[in-house]
Amino acid sequence: MKGKHLTRRRFLTATSTGVMAAMALGRIPTYANASRTASKPAILGGQALRKKPFPGWPNWYEDAEEPILSILRSGNWYRGQGHVVTEFEKAYAELIGVKRCVCTMNGTNALLSAMHVLDVGVGDEVIISPYTFIATYNVVINSAALPVFADTDPETFQINPDKIEERITKRTRAIIPVHILGLPANMDRILEIAKKHNLIVIEDACQAWLAEWKGKKCGTLGDLGCFSFQNSKHLPIGEGGAVVGNDEELMDRVYSYHNCGRPFGSVKRTSGYPVIGTNRRMTEYQAAIGLSQIKHLEADTKKRNENAKYLTSRIKDIPGILPHKLYDGVTQAAYHLYPFRYKKEQFNNMSRDRFLSALRAEGVPCSGGYGPQYNDGLIEAALNSKNFKRSFSKARLKKYREELHYPDNDQLCKEAVWFSQSMLLGSKADIDDIADAIQKIYENRDKLV
Ligand SMILES: *Cc1c(COP(=O)(O)O)cnc(C)c1O
Repeated sequence: MKGKHLTRRRFLTATSTGVMAAMALGRIPTYANASRTASKPAILGGQALRKKPFPGWPNWYEDAEEPILSILRSGNWYRGQGHVVTEFEKAYAELIGVKRCVCTMNGTNALLSAMHVLDVGVGDEVIISPYTFIATYNVVINSAALPVFADTDPETFQINPDKIEERITKRTRAIIPVHILGLPANMDRILEIAKKHNLIVIEDACQAWLAEWKGKKCGTLGDLGCFSFQNSKHLPIGEGGAVVGNDEELMDRVYSYHNCGRPFGSVKRTSGYPVIGTNRRMTEYQAAIGLSQIKHLEADTKKRNENAKYLTSRIKDIPGILPHKLYDGVTQAAYHLYPFRYKKEQFNNMSRDRFLSALRAEGVPCSGGYGPQYNDGLIEAALNSKNFKRSFSKARLKKYREELHYPDNDQLCKEAVWFSQSMLLGSKADIDDIADAIQKIYENRDKLV
């Protein structure tokens, strides 16, 4: 049974089991399938609500085979001898509506490249969200810049624009907004703050392929945008990344930098190597996989959005379940993850961990997401490093340590529940299973604590 609407017969059954009284009190959404959700929880030995797996990730397509084999047989594996990386860069730039794209071997190095060409590094302060994949922390720290956190907006899971300005100092040079979980950050506010304080904006769009702010794609709104094509990402290549931008001269510098500092476009040779470089090139066979995967990104994104919207409609009235919100400017999300907040008070104080275990037992994979990573040790290690001690005054580092508290983020880390993106690629019935499983745990909350 799909269980979206209560049929007349089930309505009558429901009335006779006393569920009606609860419905009248508005506690149980009328579409819940009472016979499924009232049964014994799987974690207590009952039947799991769902036995099939959800869609897996990544998928591969036969159209990748021939190009990969022909690259293999040609021996032209590196972009200097081929054309496939260039083709993929053009396809991705066109897809997201940006002038230029330079691929790198992963998203981490895309971010490092963007920081290098914009001269964000040693001794600078960079504002980031604490609620992000650790790579965002790492690129700032590895550049010997100070990662300064602005607290999280718990409703959207994004950096809270109201908390940014209080973190700006004389040394602040850039903001790296992350569209975390594939949900766009509030770019109007962030760009306005950056303009007012003359700060560089590098978008970490490593989870936000095709996400949109007011009709423009995330990654194309700041000075430069960075993407990841790692295995788990929506355009998966195993490893891969890209820097995108509309400033031709800046993008020439990105290209030159990622290719050992060789001349490129406006980066001209005076003699030998004109600029500092590194090697962050993508290989031809990586790009061949990318060209196959890119064909599916739009349809998959549409599906994730539809299913996310449906899931929200199904769970939003369950007490204690607070689905994420999208800012008004969001015209499309990427949904790398589907997040909501779990309020244990409405679940008879069942801990979030117990809730996650109960949900998993029903056949619904889920996670609690990021922890308060600034307490993990890496920040303290960075502050004690030679580079940091040389680049920042003792007084600055003391103040930084004192300010290393983000109450909204800490609370969010305790309450978040995530579903992975591929669960949103299934059918409506798959989404009903997720919603019914949550409902089932809610209805059994007294037995579960
Ligand atoms: C994946 C990711 C990165 C880094 O990308 P890699 O390709 O894994 O190096 C950076 N930031 C965020 C938010 C990410 O999710």
